[in-house]
Amino acid sequence: MHSYAQMDRRYRLQRERMDSVNTIRYEVMVHTQTKVLAREHLPAPYQFVMDKFPEVASIISGINMYKNDNTALWDRLGLSGAAGMYIKPLSLVLIMYSPKAPDDVVAVHELLHCAHDKLNLAEDVFAQETMTFRASIPYIAKTYDDNWIINNYLFPFYMSVYCRKSPMDQARTEAMVKCRQIVMEETGREADLEMLGGGEDRFDFID
Ligand SMILES: [Zn+2]
Repeated sequence: MHSYAQMDRRYRLQRERMDSVNTIRYEVMVHTQTKVLAREHLPAPYQFVMDKFPEVASIISGINMYKNDNTALWDRLGLSGAAGMYIKPLSLVLIMYSPKAPDDVVAVHELLHCAHDKLNLAEDVFAQETMTFRASIPYIAKTYDDNWIINNYLFPFYMSVYCRKSPMDQARTEAMVKCRQIVMEETGREADLEMLGGGEDRFDFID
């Protein structure tokens, strides 16, 4: 099944790329193109997570999200593959430019990470990602059909488990084959490579 070693490796890579939370403080939050998305900008994802976890609703309500579409910024910080990121030490969420991942889908995923973290619900990276993935499906299914979910969410999720942070090489091709198999076994459907969101690097929180 899933390889914890692979997840740990990705986790380490993510940490190495991100020198420290100061990079976010001093480069992202003050960037001229960064917009703050508070609860009033994206009410539905906030409400979904607050309803699901009323114990931490007041914390979730106060989480700010910072959205920046400047791909050069994310490239420079080594985060261009991610759609969003929950930054635990700063209790905030970043939303990157991601043409196939709508802001509200990214927001609900990251706010769920936040809630799970505040409630200490998951011990390791893989458990946290799986829990967040499952918890967000009911929200996403209100707007998107199974086909969209498979190609833009389920498949990228498995790719984040199995794929290295590497260019279009053999390892990536093998991971894609494996992930297509898993999706087929789990859903009885074929992932459509033409539709894929390209978001296999959504490994998305900093601890
Ligand atoms: Zn995640």
